Amino acid sequence: MENRREDSSVETTYRARLAARQADAGRFEHAHARLAWARLGVFGLAAALVVMLGRESAPWLAIPLVAFIPLLFIHARTLNARDRATRAAAFYERGLARLTDTWQGTGARGERFRDASHLYADDLDLFGAGGLFELLVTNRTRAGEEMLAAWLLAPAGPAAVRARQGAVTELSRKLDLREELAVLGPDLDATVRTHDLTAWAAAPPQLRGTWPRLVLPLAAAVSTSLVIQWIWTGVPPDLLVPALAAQGLLALRFRHAAHHVAHGIEEREQELRVLATLMERIEREPVDSPLLRALRDRCGGLDLAFLADMEVEAARAWLQAIPGVGPKTSAAVLSFSTLRMPALPVDSHHHRVAQRLGLIGKTVDVGPSHPILRAQLPADWSAQDLYDNHEILMLHGQKVCHHRRPACGRCVLVDLCPSARLPTREP
Ligand code: SF4
Repeated sequence: MENRREDSSVETTYRARLAARQADAGRFEHAHARLAWARLGVFGLAAALVVMLGRESAPWLAIPLVAFIPLLFIHARTLNARDRATRAAAFYERGLARLTDTWQGTGARGERFRDASHLYADDLDLFGAGGLFELLVTNRTRAGEEMLAAWLLAPAGPAAVRARQGAVTELSRKLDLREELAVLGPDLDATVRTHDLTAWAAAPPQLRGTWPRLVLPLAAAVSTSLVIQWIWTGVPPDLLVPALAAQGLLALRFRHAAHHVAHGIEEREQELRVLATLMERIEREPVDSPLLRALRDRCGGLDLAFLADMEVEAARAWLQAIPGVGPKTSAAVLSFSTLRMPALPVDSHHHRVAQRLGLIGKTVDVGPSHPILRAQLPADWSAQDLYDNHEILMLHGQKVCHHRRPACGRCVLVDLCPSARLPTREP
């Protein structure tokens, strides 16, 4: 009875906020249309001035230009506000769908976490259409999805369960915070892939050695100043052609590294913006539950440098004492961060490949597989060696040894693998 009354008051709040956000989205949509017409009008005015006055129009063009620039900013802010209102409305629609039990088909299904050999995942419909994961997931980062899946797939002690319940109870009262977390930053087609992001950030530099760092900016500066000199004096400097030729050769030599860097930045820019805005917001929120406090402290730049003085296992134990941090996260933090400590992370792909290759038993879960797989590798391997080992197995799982249909026919390990499934040939 009490629960039903609580649900109906939550539903009333959600409906009221949904209506308000939809009204905001509609208002901003109208403003967007008006601003688009205004921009077109200013552009038309500039075109008319050019047609009517020809060369004499130059000083008059300052008028539409001065009007156009603020219009651009106002328009961008309006579009941003419209998108946020739309995302906020979607947040409440999804909440209402959960309250009215019509949420099926509205969220991520977590298919990639599905494991037919898991003890209870399929029986309890954890993943897939209409599964528990789909009901619960609201994450905006891939790491958040992985954390939710890990919580669903593994048992937890009473203390961990109480910590999670405390965090959920506190968050359930913080509707403004949850709405803000759902709408902050740009919208992404996919959630933030924290693992990829960390690997990208920790990847070795593309420019090795000192000379490219000195020569490349110098060549660009020389060519630019020679071009400016040409424009200024109207006479091409003698050194311009050799300078441009040298820069062309340098561009050719470093084109792959430049493409790699530019492409990487382009791809991650949006994800970094989402992460930065989410972390900044979480950092500002006063919280009571130990789990949320630990999360906020980590966002607030808690310095983990002291872990470098510990043995790897002790550092991992320290990290795993934080509620919600498991063996994979602790290993990833030590290995991928500037700490560069030799810890082997094992994700679901790595784990699946290791199981199929017989490196671990069929019933060994991801958590317990960490020490077993680490013990199989040389004790003196560096952080980079362990990272490479993890990366290779993870990529093999993503590209070849798929969860559902492993591509054994094109697998380089087929002769060694006890789980290889090859089509039987006709005699
Ligand atoms: S042979 Fe098949 S099951 Fe074995 S590792 Fe290769 S893809 Fe996976």
